[in-house]
Amino acid sequence: MKLPLSILLAASLALPAMAQDSSAARVADTVQLLASDFFEGRAPGTLGEERTVGYLIGQLQAIGLEPGGKDGSWVQSAPLLHTQLGEPVTLGVTVAGKAQAWQRGEQVYLSTIRPQDRAVVADAPLVFVGYGVSAPERDWDDYKGVDLTGKVAVFLVNDPDFAADTGEAVAGTFGGLTMTYYGRWTYKFEEAARRGAIGALIVHDTDAAGYGWNVVASPQGENFDIVRAPAQLTSLAVQGWITGDTATRLFADAGQDLSALRRSARRADFRPLELKNSRFSADIPVTHEVVQSHNVLAKITGSQRPDEVVFYGAHWDAYGKGPPDANGKVFRSGANDDALGVAGLLEIARRFKAQPAPQRSIVFGLWTAEERGLLGSEAYTADPVYPVDKTVANLTLDILQTAGKARDVILVGAGQSSLEDDLATHANAQGRAVTPESMPERGLFYRADHFSFARQGVPVLLMMGIAGASDLVDGGVAAGQAWVDDYTGRCYHQPCDAYGPEWNLDGAMQDIDLMFDIGRDLANSSRWPQWRDGSEFKALRDLSAAARP
Ligand SMILES: [Zn+2]
Repeated sequence: MKLPLSILLAASLALPAMAQDSSAARVADTVQLLASDFFEGRAPGTLGEERTVGYLIGQLQAIGLEPGGKDGSWVQSAPLLHTQLGEPVTLGVTVAGKAQAWQRGEQVYLSTIRPQDRAVVADAPLVFVGYGVSAPERDWDDYKGVDLTGKVAVFLVNDPDFAADTGEAVAGTFGGLTMTYYGRWTYKFEEAARRGAIGALIVHDTDAAGYGWNVVASPQGENFDIVRAPAQLTSLAVQGWITGDTATRLFADAGQDLSALRRSARRADFRPLELKNSRFSADIPVTHEVVQSHNVLAKITGSQRPDEVVFYGAHWDAYGKGPPDANGKVFRSGANDDALGVAGLLEIARRFKAQPAPQRSIVFGLWTAEERGLLGSEAYTADPVYPVDKTVANLTLDILQTAGKARDVILVGAGQSSLEDDLATHANAQGRAVTPESMPERGLFYRADHFSFARQGVPVLLMMGIAGASDLVDGGVAAGQAWVDDYTGRCYHQPCDAYGPEWNLDGAMQDIDLMFDIGRDLANSSRWPQWRDGSEFKALRDLSAAARP
């Protein structure tokens, strides 16, 4: 593994050793440093990455960890594909011989994750696939064996039961208001590609998506993916969304009633429907490049069962440079998201090193490109250093609340796995209760790096401070909600996500303590956490049961 010279230099500089002696003060120092302009907002593939990766290696070495990558390396290469669509030469539909041009960003929003010079779809049939869900554990299959090769799949967003009335057969079969993986747009694009589609369009609906069209269109045709072998590339030349109005008109022109089809898509006997005499075309120039980026991996080798791994994760990347805010600040430095999680992991590593080595190994993954779509963690699970079958659990820290001590801890993904029992046991030992996340319809469980592990069957636990209002010792739930509203409304992904004197890390330290306790317990036991019945990920984990003692 060849590292850029600047990474090695930054590692050897190792920046001033932290003078602080308490954990909370050390965490605060680390956050302030990583969120400082020296690290330039920690965007993948930039000088900010080289400095960040170098700094992290220096810290991990100083704590006494071993390199966790292949061949004794501290890093794992995670090359990223970056694509940008240009101005379309052709974009629109032809219905019954009549061509309708669509404006990019107006009627339709598109991007691509194929490294191609042009994204071309030529007169492809459009197939409405309802919610596009194939969920054997729920006896649900929207596809009914229909071949999508060379066609454009048109989806509804969210789960089949999202819009169901009480009393409808589907009501509650996909978690009710709680979003399942099948409701996420990522799943829908992946499923269309598994079935050979050349395009995938999701019908936008603000309620069901959870965000407006402005959010859909905001990346302006830019996208990222991990670099894939040709055989692993998606079949989708374009993927994206159409507005509800555009879809309603398209379906009407093709002699179909979208509102009636929305109802039939809530039935298990729904069958895909090809829109008669309708064709979609796109011919759009694409610029694409590979951005070289890196995950940082470190480990503590287990004393008795070193091949069994308890995995901690946090992402080092943030949003880099952007337009100046009102104070002229250009770097979006992610102090809370997720420099704080990274600092928490370093603290957990210190605690493990202060004790005899646990029975199982502990691995720390500091991921790149979470903000580009969980790509660093996906690059890891696509080429894992430690087999996922014997990865006991993934414990992820991504945004911790900074408003002080809490009487409870927020659980993301209630009902998914037995790790929620571990969370309850150790939270209770701290004198804290467990509160389920406040808006499970947002699908936060599918939106942080732990999810890359869940998709490979590894049981996961996420600590995410914005998942709900904490019951703060000072101010109760109202104060907890005020903090969530302020952070998400003002600072999330903005330059304002910076360290400030108003930060109170007492609650974050409770969460860090809790994640350490859970991991230490797992690392000194022979337990294997289990997915609950009904979880989307249980069947996959069960396939490798024989690999675990
Ligand atoms: Zn994050």
